[in-house]
Amino acid sequence: MTEHTLTVAGVAVDPRHWIGGERVASAGTFTDVSPVDGRALGEIARGTPAEAVAAVAAAKAAFPAWAATPRAERARILHAIADGVEERLEELAIVETTDNGALLRSHRRGVMPRVAHNFRFFADRSLTLDHEDFETRGHTNHVSWDPAGPCVLITPWNAPLMLATWKIAPALAAGNTVVLKPAEWSPLTASLLADIAAEAGLPAGVLNVVQGYGSEIGDALTSHPDVRRISFTGSVPTARRIAASAAPHLTPLSLELGGKSPLLVFADADLDLAVDLAVEQYDNAGQVCLAATRILVEETVAEEFTRRFAEKAGALVQGDPREEATDIGPTIHPRQLEKIDGFVRRAVEAGARAVVGGHRVEERYYAPTLLTGVAQDSEIVQEEVFGPVLTLQTFADEDEAVRLADDTRFGLAATLVTGDRERADRVAGRLTAGTVWVNCFFVRDLRAPFGGSRHSGVGREGGTWSFDFYCDLKNTVTAPKGWNGHG
Ligand code: NAD
Repeated sequence: MTEHTLTVAGVAVDPRHWIGGERVASAGTFTDVSPVDGRALGEIARGTPAEAVAAVAAAKAAFPAWAATPRAERARILHAIADGVEERLEELAIVETTDNGALLRSHRRGVMPRVAHNFRFFADRSLTLDHEDFETRGHTNHVSWDPAGPCVLITPWNAPLMLATWKIAPALAAGNTVVLKPAEWSPLTASLLADIAAEAGLPAGVLNVVQGYGSEIGDALTSHPDVRRISFTGSVPTARRIAASAAPHLTPLSLELGGKSPLLVFADADLDLAVDLAVEQYDNAGQVCLAATRILVEETVAEEFTRRFAEKAGALVQGDPREEATDIGPTIHPRQLEKIDGFVRRAVEAGARAVVGGHRVEERYYAPTLLTGVAQDSEIVQEEVFGPVLTLQTFADEDEAVRLADDTRFGLAATLVTGDRERADRVAGRLTAGTVWVNCFFVRDLRAPFGGSRHSGVGREGGTWSFDFYCDLKNTVTAPKGWNGHG
């Protein structure tokens, strides 16, 4: 503990940057506020462009040695980080919940185990990448996966450590060094991860964490000529700024952005399953990029679906995310709550009807909401709300279902509920989406590609796709017996 250390839910957290293996205080600070009770958690380093540049310099200095470290040794250290995450799982879970308001039970049972798994999976996967050799007229083609260099990783607040480690793990396993810029609304677990990584033996400068506002230090990171990869998860407007900032140096980008995903319920579906999957879209108070926020139901079952949905949604428990019984926690920030409320008010003014919710609850919550009577071209159907707000529309047949489902600028995911296997194949084939779930939702496997089409993103993460991004692939072609310049 130093004079700088904060105590958050009983856990010591250092609010300073982590640069080159050292804690670095910033010239200024900002106040981190808990969405759980509105209390100030402490003052966090408010990075400056000079501090961001120092982090890139540290990543650059550490790169040659880390890139030259044998893969197996890198993998060993990543497994040690996973061990550290598992040892401190309770602390990470309670700090994350205090910082971003998502459910403690899901941090404990789902999210933090997945954080550890991110490190284990990409550590092991990196060992299988190696060489694909093939022959051309007796010549050998040898493909190698070379680390690209320092990577800038920028993440949002809705699943802070999960999304950060989903990038950090493959970047490090591939032999790159990293500068992580966590979201300013949820900066704390990134700092704990820096401690865990150092304890696990990750060399100084291989992972750096700069805290602060993206609007103040983002450009210094993303326009830096020494940065060889930028991986960003967040909103479309920020992605545009990052792409423009990265353009002069043609820095390769991976973008995981927003969504407005559909959930299609066909009349042949198990309606109870459909209702369960629809209500699941309120998880994390609707602050989930993948959420299927547009419920599309076949006309003939729409009334029955709506009745059962309203009953189930009405039974959800909204409240303190640390309580086991809570289903929906608070919204991250008063500004986000205001944004959600604005979307719903404008939708209602345009003719929508809130058949469930449609209002704030106390200071920090928004009631789970279902809006009907919405037009396909309306704001509420076309734009991402990022709150517990769903719309319901009906369709007459499969063609109309596909047309409505596909008619936004996004393409992150789609969920189908149907009892007809052939229909599932047909519809899945016609939709534009990075992931299609059939009679299920949110089943994720690290071996599978993940990402969005259209405005939902550029590129794919997961499995080998992560390494495609974080590596410079090289093909070395060697003549059959050309060592003296003769065949
Ligand atoms: P945001 O774009 O406002 O911020 C994301 C990050 O970008 C933060 O760390 C922020 O500080 C940083 N940032 C802001 N301006 C920047 C700039 N000019 N340069 C560099 N960095 C900058 O997004 P948010 O509100 O934190 O997150 C919500 C969004 O993230 C939603 O649109 C959601 O759908 C999306 N999201 C997508 C996925 C996915 O995997 N597709 C996952 C989670 C969230």
